[in-house]
Amino acid sequence: MSRSQWHSAPLRQRGSQQRAAPVAANGRLTHGLANATATAGVWSETTLVEAFDRIRCFTGKHGRAPHKPLLLLLVLARLQRGDAGPIEFSDVEEKLQHLLEDFGPPGAKHPEYPFWRLRSDGIWQVESERGTDLLAFENSSRDVPVSRLRGEHAVGRLLPEVESALATRPALVNEIAARLLERNFPPTLHEDILDAVGMPYRAETDRRRPRDAGFREMILRIYERRCAMCGFDGRLGRADFGVEAAHVQWHAFDGPDIEENGLCLCSLHHKALDVGALGIGEDGRVLVSEHLCGGSRVQDWLVDLRGRPLGTPTQGHVSPQPAFIKWHREEVFRDPPRAA
Ligand SMILES: [Zn+2]
Repeated sequence: MSRSQWHSAPLRQRGSQQRAAPVAANGRLTHGLANATATAGVWSETTLVEAFDRIRCFTGKHGRAPHKPLLLLLVLARLQRGDAGPIEFSDVEEKLQHLLEDFGPPGAKHPEYPFWRLRSDGIWQVESERGTDLLAFENSSRDVPVSRLRGEHAVGRLLPEVESALATRPALVNEIAARLLERNFPPTLHEDILDAVGMPYRAETDRRRPRDAGFREMILRIYERRCAMCGFDGRLGRADFGVEAAHVQWHAFDGPDIEENGLCLCSLHHKALDVGALGIGEDGRVLVSEHLCGGSRVQDWLVDLRGRPLGTPTQGHVSPQPAFIKWHREEVFRDPPRAA
């Protein structure tokens, strides 16, 4: 089936109606600015950024559900590579599942959810060869079974007017990608995710880093500029080298800039903490994921940390507190831990 044939599919019409009812952050249908702009067929840079900012993807108070952001990053990367238009679910399913496994919370699956549910955010539509079969789900809260999306060769796409507005504004695509990353992932993972989705241009994700300056200096000071896991304390001239301040509960998920949520770590152990290869037990000792593997260097630098007590801050300061450790264990660490 050619792409032009999709334009006459019944769900195409449904998608057109859907964009007349963008959904506000509170989940209620609204007829706000984005609606007026979309109806006029013109999206300004502001309304485009706002539309992507409004994507609803929470499952709990602080629970991580990066399904929609990862799908959108895949689609934006594709757009940057000059490949616009419909994308078949079957063509994106495996890639999205891998992204969920690599960058989502432990056990994340169901790539079909964002593909279908993103329709309610006012920028995405889903069509199928036999649109009537998906139509039954259109006005219900039920998800289309994954077998149905596959079997009917369902295709999803950004609304054409959104897509064409973005296609002529590569800097804006970078801005939106950067905001998706900043709202959903720690800075240590941004480059990895951009590589994984195949984004050809770098999103500038470090612009807002100065917010961390005070936190970083405070954490490095109270840990005497030493990694709390391995003791690394590199310096190059007067500057710290490879020593960083880590948030236990990610800043993107309301993790506060306080010592109770901070750890001084070397670059390697910071990254390992953020990808869930390392974690922190309730007893304050290092956990090492059973999923982490590699040769003798991995054994020496990572696996052998299991069961080791974290380095403590200087007198009068406190180590990471249980609430933040619990968040990391549930949302980031790759269970199960290796036996100590
Ligand atoms: Zn270290």
